[in-house]
Amino acid sequence: MASTPASTVLERFLRYVAYDTQSDENSTTYPSTAKQLVFADAIVAELRALGLHDAARDEHGYVMATIPATTKKPGVPVIGFIAHLDTSPEADGANVKPVIHRNYQGQDLTFADDPALVLKRSDNPSLERQLGNDIVTASGTTLLGADNKAGAAAIVAAAEYLLQHPAIAHGTLRLGFTPDEEVGSGTKYFDVKKFGAAFAYTMDGEELGEVESETFSADSMTITFTGFNTHPGFAKGRMVNAIKVAADFIQRLPKNGLAPETTAQREGFVHPYVVNAAVEKTSVKFLIRDFVTAELAEKEAFLEKLARETAAAWPGAAVTCVVEESYRNMKEVLDRYPQVAEHAREAVRRAGLQVLEKPIRGGTDGSKLSFMGLPTPNVFTGEHNFHSRLEWVSVQDMEKAVEVIVHIARVWEEKS
Ligand SMILES: [Zn+2]
Repeated sequence: MASTPASTVLERFLRYVAYDTQSDENSTTYPSTAKQLVFADAIVAELRALGLHDAARDEHGYVMATIPATTKKPGVPVIGFIAHLDTSPEADGANVKPVIHRNYQGQDLTFADDPALVLKRSDNPSLERQLGNDIVTASGTTLLGADNKAGAAAIVAAAEYLLQHPAIAHGTLRLGFTPDEEVGSGTKYFDVKKFGAAFAYTMDGEELGEVESETFSADSMTITFTGFNTHPGFAKGRMVNAIKVAADFIQRLPKNGLAPETTAQREGFVHPYVVNAAVEKTSVKFLIRDFVTAELAEKEAFLEKLARETAAAWPGAAVTCVVEESYRNMKEVLDRYPQVAEHAREAVRRAGLQVLEKPIRGGTDGSKLSFMGLPTPNVFTGEHNFHSRLEWVSVQDMEKAVEVIVHIARVWEEKS
């Protein structure tokens, strides 16, 4: 019998990171890799063994399960907790060998399988808060997968605790585990109706105490320059080289602002990240980001004007601009349901922690879910240095995440 809500989270975490669940952005299947299903099925088996008899995986790889209500109060909303099954394709994710550094004393941490790799305290201000705690890293050649197996372990540990303590009053809770978050498709087939929660929390945040309810709003924009190709031996006065037009355009982008490398905090940016170049046609792909959705259109108008001015300077060249919506700032939805973030803040305080809030300079699955009808802020689990061989997680922070989940369930019951 678990004596604290947290006592099983490390054991689970170490078991989960042994599954290679990398997603693949070049795949044409869903989920993008079949190995995510192996982990999904293991989670289902584990949830069933805990007594969650409806735990099941669907054909897309989504795992859902229900913790029945213990309260007799009517009208307590169904609350969901969500983690993603996959890990990032940006660093090797197979044969992860987790290493526990007990009782951390502020030193730089080294890696047995890559002596050149060092997790420096000076580069990781979050390590300052970990003195005396236990830190888990990988062994140097792979990522750890704390993003998001720390979240999965916290959710399952909290489920086990709640099932062992039926005297804790809470409403119906839904657990969700999703594939392909890291390749931007985590919500593609997420059935909000079937999940059946009124509100949810992704357990995929970083720093102890964090409750994140604001993300970027995001579009992508493809600017395509068309030139005219001929045999280069007979090109004089005829060829228009789209590569040179695009290069001229990129050269005209602002040097001192509006870029990821020159902005921070609440500033947005435009970011050219792929160029497909040929003489006849060259396209430049941009990420457009801002916390204020209306500012996206201004940034897009600015790029379009710059592109047209550039094309005009190259007789015979033409340009087209196509904008696609990526995701929107979840705050636009969450502001209509202030209790969702507030109950999470209250749960963080009840766990004895200070609430940290900062806007996320990116998106979460919650950004999309919020606009799909499931308002979903993001809560910390102690995972750090995502997508990197320097990834690490604090055992004590994971334990606090378990406590916070239990508190969130209680707060919703009390305040409904
Ligand atoms: Zn994540």
